[in-house]
Amino acid sequence: MDAVPEIVRDGIRIYGPSTPVPGVARRQGLRRHRSDSNEGPRTMERTVFDEDHELFRDVAREFNDRAVAPHYAEWDRQHMMDRSVWTAAGEQGLLGLAVPEEFGGAGMPDYRFRSVLDEEFARSNHLAVGLAFHLHDDLVLPHLLAYGSEDLKERWLPGMVSGEIVTSCAWTEPGAGSDLRGIRTKAVRDGDDWLISGQKVFIGNGISGDASLVLARTDGSTGRGSSDSFSLFMVSRGEGYTPGRQLDKMGLRASDTAELFFDNVRVPGSDLVGEVGQGLRYSLEQIPQGRLGIAVASAALARATYEQTLRYVTERSAFGERVLDFQNTRHVLADILTEVEVTETFVDQSVLAFNAGALTPTAAAQAKLWASERAKSITDRCLQLHGGYGYILEYPVSQAFLAARLLTIFGGTSEIMRESIGRSIAGRSPQNR
Ligand SMILES: Cc1cc2nc3c(=O)[nH]c(=O)nc-3n(C[C@H](O)[C@H](O)[C@H](O)COP(=O)(O)OP(=O)(O)OC[C@H]3O[C@@H](n4cnc5c(N)ncnc54)[C@H](O)[C@@H]3O)c2cc1C
Repeated sequence: MDAVPEIVRDGIRIYGPSTPVPGVARRQGLRRHRSDSNEGPRTMERTVFDEDHELFRDVAREFNDRAVAPHYAEWDRQHMMDRSVWTAAGEQGLLGLAVPEEFGGAGMPDYRFRSVLDEEFARSNHLAVGLAFHLHDDLVLPHLLAYGSEDLKERWLPGMVSGEIVTSCAWTEPGAGSDLRGIRTKAVRDGDDWLISGQKVFIGNGISGDASLVLARTDGSTGRGSSDSFSLFMVSRGEGYTPGRQLDKMGLRASDTAELFFDNVRVPGSDLVGEVGQGLRYSLEQIPQGRLGIAVASAALARATYEQTLRYVTERSAFGERVLDFQNTRHVLADILTEVEVTETFVDQSVLAFNAGALTPTAAAQAKLWASERAKSITDRCLQLHGGYGYILEYPVSQAFLAARLLTIFGGTSEIMRESIGRSIAGRSPQNR
């Protein structure tokens, strides 16, 4: 692995190997330095971040330049990132920010740091790495932190923070995606252990992962389960746990997505997460963070694609003028900039609400619905402004377009977000409960 450099500013070491930046910056009482995070035209100033977040942005940016950019094209070709990116991220203090220091984490539940990280993955066009980290940090970790026993946390969290343990989150099955009550993977007791059998699909980090947080049926029922039919387990890779074929995705190809097969996989009782029968309730309680993470990535992708497109149309000429000088281009960009900043404003407020423990599943669904649909539409219009070059994969806009196409589907489709919001309006309980 490359040597991890230090960042020293005004003679003060801001960060170095194994030094989570936020705490260091705070303890050293660093003054806010000029940040170029607001590069590009911005009419609505964002007030959500303070100096610690901007210092952290430098770290995330340096990490992208050093540990991701030189390898990303190769990872994209092989549909798999090197494991070393996980340990490099762990070494830099970028994983498990919310994990308490006693388990090796930064003890920083402030979601703005994760937002900054996601923004930098989007800005540098490395969204596949952002997605892989999102599954580990926004889906698996919150469940372990909220419901795991002390023993379970001690065994799993330090490795997840260091990047030595890579996790996936296995909810979806061939016959059950939007409707989780259709899950058929089952867990049956065998003494103090559980035996898990079934099949999952579309599992990010499914091949590269060492363990998976699995939602399985524990009440022996068949057909559509009830709200207390399912439980969560941390399942280690081992006998009976077989990753299936690598799925050939249209975008975000630097991350692996696969089927998982479980054939009587033995799981110790101590790897049951929380209580039996509470899996669906837990996933509903933690759903705001998953939706928020996708909303943040969507807003960041929209902003990054807008800025990159503005640069392109400024440099590209036709009919003796810059493409930017056509009225159509200016009008399209005017719409996009407005949408980007409205989206950022809503998403920023959602992040603050999350920090305050007040982001409801409905509000998180609104953030995901709005931001992901904007990202899809904005990347499409930006691609059009590139003409033929927009269709060529080596141009960032085509990668952004393909990445954005996933955002309205995974983590709950837009239709399910509308259902969630609509049911709340009508005073009905969520579908998966
Ligand atoms: C690249 C990728 C990565 C993924 N990563 C993961 C992962 O790591 N872990 C994981 O568990 N899952 C993952 N998923 C799965 C993803 O969350 C599901 O694909 C998604 O929730 C939709 O489920 P489905 O594909 O079964 O579609 P279906 O549920 O079959 O839906 C088909 C269509 O019907 C619509 N629909 C369904 N129900 C309703 C309704 N009540 N009202 C109106 N319309 C409805 C849907 O919106 C959709 O348009 C991933 C998917 C992809 C493509």
